[in-house]
Amino acid sequence: MYAVKANPSPDLIVALWDAGITTFDVASIAEVRLVRGLLPEASLCFMHPVKGEEAIAEAYHSHGVRTFSLDSEAELAKIVAATARDGVNATDLTLCVRLRVSSAHSKLSLASKFGVAAEDAGPLLVATRQVADALGICFHVGSQAMSPQAYAEALAQVRTAIVGAGVTVDVVDVGGGFPSVYPGMEPIALDAYFEVISRAFEALPVSYSAELWCEPGRALSAEYASVLVRVEARRDDVLYINDGAYGALFDAAHIHWRFPAKLVREGGSRARTMGFSFYGPTCDDMDFMRGPFELPADVRAGDYIELGMLGAYGSAMRTGFNGFTAGATIIARDEPMETVYGADEETPDNIVQLRQK
Ligand SMILES: *Cc1c(COP(=O)(O)O)cnc(C)c1O
Repeated sequence: MYAVKANPSPDLIVALWDAGITTFDVASIAEVRLVRGLLPEASLCFMHPVKGEEAIAEAYHSHGVRTFSLDSEAELAKIVAATARDGVNATDLTLCVRLRVSSAHSKLSLASKFGVAAEDAGPLLVATRQVADALGICFHVGSQAMSPQAYAEALAQVRTAIVGAGVTVDVVDVGGGFPSVYPGMEPIALDAYFEVISRAFEALPVSYSAELWCEPGRALSAEYASVLVRVEARRDDVLYINDGAYGALFDAAHIHWRFPAKLVREGGSRARTMGFSFYGPTCDDMDFMRGPFELPADVRAGDYIELGMLGAYGSAMRTGFNGFTAGATIIARDEPMETVYGADEETPDNIVQLRQK
């Protein structure tokens, strides 16, 4: 499934559907409504372990959601209550118990907030088994997992949980965390991840017909978008640009993520490249992206810069703080600045459609 959180752009969601992705990981009732509105036939899985009861009820009764995740008995009771009809419990639920696993191999931790430890999961798995049509175990190794070992270690925790609880498990969901490629962060091929995961899955004590699921967000969306910014001023090796920490560059500012940068200027530049930092447009010191972003040394006010690989957690993070927000969205069909999928497809025509938003 595609984790909508990474980039809820309707164009992307429809493109993924057209490419064969039929199941979507949604985390809020707004994401449920969004995807259901776009794709009446899609399967939706509500994989946030802490949900509002009215969100569960609307998802189940109005939007056909049957799969939910949880990490506590309180959440289980909430799901059971919200999906009952006339006092009769639902009999068609797929319920995934979220395990807490290490984020040690990942650039962005998701280890503290959700999940029950494998050693403590027994009672919850047994209780969930009693009300679920299908029982799943899910986890998230953290975003941008730089080694497939992350999944092998998490699947060892799944084994511990299953053996401890003695339940039949129908679904193992390895979550998201699949990496994309950024300057200084070049993961090994995704095939190596899939190999490690399928080997560990085959060795698990699950039913013969058990399904293996995953929920990538970043890996399916990072390559989808670039952000085009304009240089408003230059001071030495710092460029003042018109997007930043409160816009699409949240990760660049707050966790020092680096993105590929390309000068966009008529006639280009022949200057050697050097590293630049960026200030964003707001009046806030925190609106600073250290980089370094590699650009020609003669970059100047008025130039545009393409910052690539911002399809995941880029446009999704924009705010309107200080009045600086997105101008135009342009649908283009050029290659992404980097790819984890190999370059075996032809480059289609460049910009085909211009749409003001
Ligand atoms: C954020 C999230 C994802 C997607 O993670 P990526 O690192 O972008 O692949 C998947 N599942 C859940 C439950 C999440 O919270």
